[in-house]
Amino acid sequence: MAPSGSLPYRIGFGYDAHQLVVGRELWLGGVRIDHESGLDGHSDADVLLHALCDALLGAVGLGDIGQHFPNTDAAWKGADSKRLLEAVVKLLHDRGWRVGNVDCTLVMERPKVMPHAAAMRAAIAPLLHVAEDAVSIKATTNERMGFVGREEGACAYAVAMVHRSEAVSG
Ligand code: MG
Repeated sequence: MAPSGSLPYRIGFGYDAHQLVVGRELWLGGVRIDHESGLDGHSDADVLLHALCDALLGAVGLGDIGQHFPNTDAAWKGADSKRLLEAVVKLLHDRGWRVGNVDCTLVMERPKVMPHAAAMRAAIAPLLHVAEDAVSIKATTNERMGFVGREEGACAYAVAMVHRSEAVSG
């Protein structure tokens, strides 16, 4: 049997959470959404893109977003997380991997996210070099339970499938 390192397909999982605070813009899935509060963090705190970055890094065994873009690094202060995602995708490409598809779930009480899902898919797909139907965005509330339910924050989960660039023609 071939060693797992040579498999042409890999999957990865990512999770992230950020606090909701007044006075910050709300960025989710690369899209700015009108809301009375926004997610707090060193970058734009786009929790969905951060979970996605971790899923992609996880798929190829490259650690996590905190190792590549430390929140002590002034270069990433206030950063657009689309630039982080771009950098992660370049790390994959440089090592001979391509993104196959990704599936993301955002968990927050308000505002409603699904009306923005199409815009998020349109923002994310070109960064991953995939078609929009290879980017799934799902959303749920936490039924008023826990930190998400109290609107203290939001969290996101993502899985990603990547393949060896030579495994699929074109
Ligand atoms: Mg984060």
